[in-house]
Amino acid sequence: MASYESLDEIDLEENSAVEVEDISSQKSFVWYKVGIFAFFVFSKELTDITPPYNQNIRGKCGLCKKFISGRHGANTNFSRHYEQIHPSKYSTFKLQNEKEKQAKKSEKRKRVETPAKTKLTDNQKIAAKARASEFFVRAPLLLTEQEKINQRILDYIIADALPLSTVDSYFFKKMLQALNPKNVLFSSKTLCSLITKDFKKFHSNLKASFGKVSVISLTTDIWSSRHRSFLGVTAHWLDEVTFQRHSAAMGLKRFTGSHTFYKIANLIPSIILDYGLTGKVQHIVTANGSNFVKG
Ligand SMILES: [Zn+2]
Repeated sequence: MASYESLDEIDLEENSAVEVEDISSQKSFVWYKVGIFAFFVFSKELTDITPPYNQNIRGKCGLCKKFISGRHGANTNFSRHYEQIHPSKYSTFKLQNEKEKQAKKSEKRKRVETPAKTKLTDNQKIAAKARASEFFVRAPLLLTEQEKINQRILDYIIADALPLSTVDSYFFKKMLQALNPKNVLFSSKTLCSLITKDFKKFHSNLKASFGKVSVISLTTDIWSSRHRSFLGVTAHWLDEVTFQRHSAAMGLKRFTGSHTFYKIANLIPSIILDYGLTGKVQHIVTANGSNFVKG
């Protein structure tokens, strides 16, 4: 396990030789788990040892599996890959990196305030231990772990239709921090963009599965709640290879005014078009309301 101390020694922009050499000499230091290197997979020959500073190293990107070459201690090529190919991951990484830097700075300041003495009293020893463990706990979560947590929060908010402001709640944050102090908390604004991203992923996945089928049926219905009306459209299809039945909610469109036939007649084709289903829809099952039946 890498000690916390080494986590932000490697700076993204300034690749200071002194700093890198310094940490390489530490026995507990696991170089490939630190900073941007943690996002790459290195061969066993490289991970079994700490390569000398400036040695050529080659790592496989954990996301796109592309091989990136660089030199140990100089993470420019590896950082650049993430910056250019996986910009959103990179900005999250930078943010965490910055946070850890600030934490380290304040820790350094603390250390200056209490000069090291050769003989510590028991109380001082206990205090130092507590400080060290607190410090260790603040080491950042790996992005993948953090992403898992973020996804669970997202699922919880969406599935229970909770207000986005839930994540801004003081006690909600307290709870997350109690569960894992390394947790990077996010605001409702970030939640909003996470949900949008999630939806786009869902939308394109659904579109991709629709691309593999030639016939699809739809069911629709209208709900009204507190003077708001929504048109829901669900797709139903058979997997043409396994004959497995599938259903997916395609849209929940809000519309204003009365639920007239013409309004609905306009909304459904727009949803069909949105999912590239033109020419594939064979049946649309509706409730037998007057609005669904052309008068
Ligand atoms: Zn990549």
